Amino acid sequence: MADAVPGTVTDDQLVASGGYWAKVIPKGSVLRIVDLAGKQAVDFLCYNARDPSERYNAADTMKYAGTIFLTEGHGIYSDMGRILLTIIDDTCGRHDTIGGCCSAESNQLRYKEEGTPNCRDNFLMALADFGLGKKDIVANLNFFMNVPVEPDGGMALVEGFSAPGDFVDLRAEMDVLAVISNCPQTRNPVNAYNPTPIRLVIWKPDNTN
Ligand SMILES: [Zn+2]
Repeated sequence: MADAVPGTVTDDQLVASGGYWAKVIPKGSVLRIVDLAGKQAVDFLCYNARDPSERYNAADTMKYAGTIFLTEGHGIYSDMGRILLTIIDDTCGRHDTIGGCCSAESNQLRYKEEGTPNCRDNFLMALADFGLGKKDIVANLNFFMNVPVEPDGGMALVEGFSAPGDFVDLRAEMDVLAVISNCPQTRNPVNAYNPTPIRLVIWKPDNTN
């Protein structure tokens, strides 16, 4: 998969099932998120790396795209009306902008189980390395997570469409801090009840300096 990028790989990491990751993607470089086994939700936050008080804004991103389902060609925007990332390739075609991330507290409320592994704690551990914390967690994007919305407004977290090896390519339009929780959820179908590893490749397109 990493060998197939049209550019030079500068970072290539496997993130274990239930693991987390955070890195700065330099402007012009691309983050490829590979759903190795398929049907794996990848919870995602992003910030202006030079001033993380500027961060992903879900509502504005949906308004600019004119849809809640982001795919190739759509921008991922900050709360300052600036583009953080562009989705330049997407082999899956279905990602979620409204379902948010799982937390120990929401799992307790919904599934009556305490102390479950969860994306919110993953985000907090990943953000801590960059001096960020609870106040920096906003409504997040979920790659490969399937949250259909029905005509009557009904919504649900259901099994994803992604096949093994599906990926998205996100080109950084500024230096972007990208933060990922490889969702450990086993109590609803977003990971097909079987969380699996993902691969994260940072690559530099051949046509940039
Ligand atoms: Zn989760």
